[in-house]
Amino acid sequence: MSNKGSLIVISAPSGAGKSTLVRGLFEKFLETPGLVFSVSHTTRKPRSGEQHGVDYFFTSESEFKQMIAAGAFLEYADVYGNWYGTSREAVESQLKAGRDVLLDIDVQGAMKVKQSLPEAILIFVLPPSFRILRERLLKRGLDDPAVIERRLQVARGEVGYYCKYDYVIVNEDIERSLFELKSIVSAARCAISRRRDRAQEIVKTFQET
Ligand code: 5GP
Repeated sequence: MSNKGSLIVISAPSGAGKSTLVRGLFEKFLETPGLVFSVSHTTRKPRSGEQHGVDYFFTSESEFKQMIAAGAFLEYADVYGNWYGTSREAVESQLKAGRDVLLDIDVQGAMKVKQSLPEAILIFVLPPSFRILRERLLKRGLDDPAVIERRLQVARGEVGYYCKYDYVIVNEDIERSLFELKSIVSAARCAISRRRDRAQEIVKTFQET
C-alpha cells in the first residue's frame, strides 16, 4: 500500500495570477499524472465557457444547503456573495488513492482546511504590489470599475493571511512562479511521510542478501 497523497491549497487575491498558475501546473507539469484538481461546488452562475463538472459543480442554493447539513463539505465559505465548497468525499478518496489534490480556495476555506487537516500544504500567491494588482485587474477588463474596487478592498484583508500559509509565491514573472509552484509540489512528494513505504522496500533489499 503506497502512502497517501498531499493536499495542496492555493489562495490569492483576485488578479494575482492564481488561475494562470494552476492551469500552467496542469498543462506543463507533465510528470504530474498523480495530481488532480478538486472541482468545487458553487452557487455562482457559470461564466461563459465554464463547464459543469470541470470548472465547478454549479449547484442551487437549496442543494448547497442540503450538502452542508449532510456534512458533505470539507470546508465551505461565502465568497463575494456566493457559496463555494469542497467535497469531503472527493478529496479523501483521491488522497487515499495516493494522488495529490490541489484546492483553489479562498483564505477562509484554507484556514478551515488547515484546522481539520494540519498536514495540508498551504501556498499563498501575492502580486508584487497593490498598485500592480489594481493595474492587472483594470487591464484584464473583465469587471467594471466598481467590482474591481470591491475586489481590491477584499484583497486588503486577504493579503494579511499570507503568514498563516506554508509558502508564498510572489507572482512577478509567471514562468518563475510556475517553477516555484512545481517545486513545492515536487518537494511534497519527497517528504518522508510520502516516501516511507518505498524507502522501507529499498532498505529491505539491503538486508536480504
Ligand atoms: P471564482 O468565482 O472567481 O471562480 O472564485 C472566487 C473565489 O472563490 C476564488 O478566490 C476561489 O479561490 C474561491 N473558491 C473557489 N472554490 C472554492 C471552495 O470550494 N471553497 C472556498 N472556500 N473558496 C473557493
